[in-house]
Amino acid sequence: MRIVVASGNRNKLREIAEIFDKCEVVSMQEAGFSGDIEETGGTFEENALIKARAVCAALGLPALADDSGLCVEALGGAPGVHSARFCGRHGDDAANNALLLEKLRGVPAEKRGAYFESCVALCFPEGREIVASGRTYGRILAGAEGAGGFGYDPLFYSDDLGKSFGTAAPEEKNAVSHRARALAALAKKWEEEA
Ligand code: IMP
Repeated sequence: MRIVVASGNRNKLREIAEIFDKCEVVSMQEAGFSGDIEETGGTFEENALIKARAVCAALGLPALADDSGLCVEALGGAPGVHSARFCGRHGDDAANNALLLEKLRGVPAEKRGAYFESCVALCFPEGREIVASGRTYGRILAGAEGAGGFGYDPLFYSDDLGKSFGTAAPEEKNAVSHRARALAALAKKWEEEA
């Protein structure tokens, strides 16, 4: 089966292809979708469904989308669905990280708990939809550690790995990541429903 991934992110595509190794996984660009999808949802699940439904409807093929972000306890769950544009501009990792550190200035380590969450949605042309989510827990460091990964990775100390995602190898992060957990849960649900 061919699955279109509603994302242009190469890392996500590779991660998804590894988990859904019985399917042919292609990007939405490769499948011929060039539209812009507005993420207007208030939750990760709503946004994942908006993206997967749009690509599925446009191409008439099964489509998979993920929506993810960082939730910080001391900030009441922020930046959450606004993670990519926390600073006001979309995708400015340096400014997002600087703002996060600023907002947590003076907050002690034990109150800097946080998690990454990912929600993945798989939509089929005949209307079936499967949704699953995954989390990975840790805390926000007082400063960047490592330059690996992307987004908030250098500021996120992973409880599972005992070090920051910024210092982790891609395989290490993928073994415990929110997205990997969400994708594994989705694959399991799909298998059980088949
Ligand atoms: P999206 O799901 O690709 O829209 O990601 C939303 C935003 O959440 C990204 O731009 C990052 O700021 C943040 N984010 C999501 N997953 C990760 C991750 O694994 N590491 C670091 N930042 C992440």
